[in-house]
Amino acid sequence: MLLRHTTPDIKERSALTVNPAKTCQPIGAMYASLGVHGCLPHSHGSQGCYAYHRSALTRHYKEPVMAATSAFTEGASVFGGQANLLQAIDNIFSVYEPDVIAVHTTCLSETIGDDIPQIINKARADGRIPEGKYVFHANTPSYVGSHVTGFASMTKSMVDYFAENDGHRSKVVNLIPGYVEPADMSEVRRLATEMGISSIIFPDTAGVLNGPLTGKYKMFPEGGVTVEQLRQSGSSSGTIALGNLASSPAGLALDSKCKVPCRTLNLPIGLIDTDLFIDALRRMAGVNVPESITLERGQLVDAISDWHQYLHGKRVGIVGDPDQLLAMTRFLASLDMRPVYLATGSPAGKKFEQSLREAIAEVPGEVRIKVPGDMYLFHQWIKNEPVDLLIGNTYVKYIARDEDIPFVRFGFPILDRMGHSYFPSVGYRGALRLLEKILDALLDRKDRDSSDIEFELVL
Ligand code: SF4
Repeated sequence: MLLRHTTPDIKERSALTVNPAKTCQPIGAMYASLGVHGCLPHSHGSQGCYAYHRSALTRHYKEPVMAATSAFTEGASVFGGQANLLQAIDNIFSVYEPDVIAVHTTCLSETIGDDIPQIINKARADGRIPEGKYVFHANTPSYVGSHVTGFASMTKSMVDYFAENDGHRSKVVNLIPGYVEPADMSEVRRLATEMGISSIIFPDTAGVLNGPLTGKYKMFPEGGVTVEQLRQSGSSSGTIALGNLASSPAGLALDSKCKVPCRTLNLPIGLIDTDLFIDALRRMAGVNVPESITLERGQLVDAISDWHQYLHGKRVGIVGDPDQLLAMTRFLASLDMRPVYLATGSPAGKKFEQSLREAIAEVPGEVRIKVPGDMYLFHQWIKNEPVDLLIGNTYVKYIARDEDIPFVRFGFPILDRMGHSYFPSVGYRGALRLLEKILDALLDRKDRDSSDIEFELVL
């Protein structure tokens, strides 16, 4: 019992988080930066933060995550980090030659109050930023928000710095995919392409954090949205922002800066939310849904109806980032499962909590929700009344092991299984994969627990 100190009696806590269900803002900012082609993320703070953020992403993606740091010591902590950042910009462009540097702050540089736009302007005035190269930034103090808000701020910053309206409207649709896996970003692009729609996806980590092993090291892989595409996003016909917390700030910024209308949707996880995404794409681009996508949808509907009896009424506990938590809850409720314990570590606001309550409106019995909550409380709920299935990131495996509950890994981070970088969770195909994982977990348990008499070849 690794979590043997978790007690079933629940006491109200307001000032203490135990076993948090989130991580810090710069991790999300670093991940978003990697979705820009030729970009080197830069951590403006001390080396400890930077090492942690890089290793968190490396452990999830099993790829070397490159970044740079302002390497604060006592001097920078007292007098500010301007000299460090100016020197870093010089060194990075002359040694590593990226197209872009994306600077994010940390708790320390935010507490000092470093003015990053002023430092970038000074670097430009001093001639430290070569012609045709760029530096942009996002403020990501980690004593507020979470890795999701860090991702959202860096994505919005791409709009703030680069998007331009050239006076024309192209037929291109902007797709802001949310804090999802590289495979999900590919899947969003594939669905749009299948419908004959040209899209600009940003950020886009496909090909960056799930690239091939070629035997040749490339510091800046092929993938990622280019600065030119970010510029053109200001002239697109519309934007679909997937996931309210991670994507809507960038979508709304494009609307107010370049008058590109934005529609915010849930992440397209599961049948209903993928339907809404496809419908929004169809309307925005003025195209028809091709037979190939109708076929994918039909396969998902068939699988749901074939296996529905093993899903019906199953109690599920989910821990996840807000956009994922909401979409997964809606998916499970649509399968007649019972998502009964829902927790996220990210502060996502009352509106989000309201959306979660709407998602479980038809789920029978009591549903416990905590926004923001932690995994200690989530575990306590389970100790009081167990569930049939747990869904969450790798940290949930301690609860699954202690309570002997089937467990599906989903979200960030996943440190001990493969697949998330290569197989999507979004779209009809993604839903099919999630369905397979959920059913495997439930039916493996059924096989394990059945007596010899109940043990069946065909379930
Ligand atoms: S919480 Fe703040 S100090 Fe800690 S690693 Fe994150 S940015 Fe650095």
